[in-house]
Amino acid sequence: MEVGEVGRARAIQVQGMLAVLRHVHAHPATTRARLARDLGLSRGSAAEIIARLHALRLVAESGAEPTGARGRPTRVVHRHDRGPVVAVAELSHESWGVAIAHLGGELCPVRRERHDRPGAPEDVLARMGAALREVQAAYGTRLRAVGIALPGTVSDGRLVAAATLGWRDVDIARGLGIPFSMPVITGNDATMAGVAEARRGSAADAGVALFLTVEVGIGGVLLERGRAATGATGAGGEFGHMPFGDPALPCPCGAHGCWDLEVDGRALARYLEEPPPAAPRTAAGAVLHRARTGDAAARAALDRVAGNLGRGVAGLVNALDPQVVTLSGLAVVIADLAGPAVRAAYLAGLMGFRRRTPPPLVPARFPDDGSMRGAAELAFDAVLSEAGLDEWRRDARDAAG
Ligand SMILES: [Zn+2]
Repeated sequence: MEVGEVGRARAIQVQGMLAVLRHVHAHPATTRARLARDLGLSRGSAAEIIARLHALRLVAESGAEPTGARGRPTRVVHRHDRGPVVAVAELSHESWGVAIAHLGGELCPVRRERHDRPGAPEDVLARMGAALREVQAAYGTRLRAVGIALPGTVSDGRLVAAATLGWRDVDIARGLGIPFSMPVITGNDATMAGVAEARRGSAADAGVALFLTVEVGIGGVLLERGRAATGATGAGGEFGHMPFGDPALPCPCGAHGCWDLEVDGRALARYLEEPPPAAPRTAAGAVLHRARTGDAAARAALDRVAGNLGRGVAGLVNALDPQVVTLSGLAVVIADLAGPAVRAAYLAGLMGFRRRTPPPLVPARFPDDGSMRGAAELAFDAVLSEAGLDEWRRDARDAAG
């Protein structure tokens, strides 16, 4: 073969290996027959690629599994137990956590700690960084990438603002003291939770999906074929800061009239003419409990918030044209307790032609660990790439000496 042909043959081989790896990641216990069928490979090609990936400790096969009445037994293809892992870290307004994830998306918690007080960024990030270094010490070169989910606006790897923590403009990689020469992917926690829903959750069948979560304010992201549309610097998806609210109200983000201020515990307190709550998420829970148990004023405040939520979702659906809208956090509770108010405002706000088949509002499949799952997906995107595979092969060669 000439040099150009060798290069082309190698490129085809790499693409075949990546296709199989991505398939095993998306379908953690697939069969060799299904894999070949889904990827349009001959049985021979599939067997050859799997053998190559097995030699690299990337996938393994186990026992024959009968495949229906006439089907021949086939082998189950799954992750190699000494294969690559990614580390994920999540920071929230009340705690931080670190976990590892395997090919196939299985998440194994490593550590979670509550903040004693709204801590200084240096202290909290140093503790998270120490936990990540422990993971690196335990997994060595099996650790291939790190994904980090953050509770605020993230732009070019910096946490621009995390209102609930009172943090501003924090360099995350520097704060964690990560010395690793591996991809570190930072992102907004709602964006990452949206990725998890689009890849493996409530929106897995939708080409275009909108994810919205309410905690303090509202976060979300538009997903196209599992990829988050986050703009030029990663700071897109700040739907809560669209001026769907009262133009007289200043928002901590610097704008006025943000939707954020109309859908959470701050809104409920204002509608009830109570002082601004110090912990809006907890305060919202208390008001919703009162509404559930028959308090008329709390019920009226809830219905107002529900209307604000439904109307804003309609605006986003008109603008973005998703097939499904996934709700998470307080939005699910609000939709459960005040479904008719949410739905009436949603339908009233939709353009007429959309009302015939409005995109369904569905609850998240991963309400508790979606951010970590999404961070793992984005970290694995870096691992299951040409560069990621090249580096794994190089390390495997070096280890073989
Ligand atoms: Zn704002």
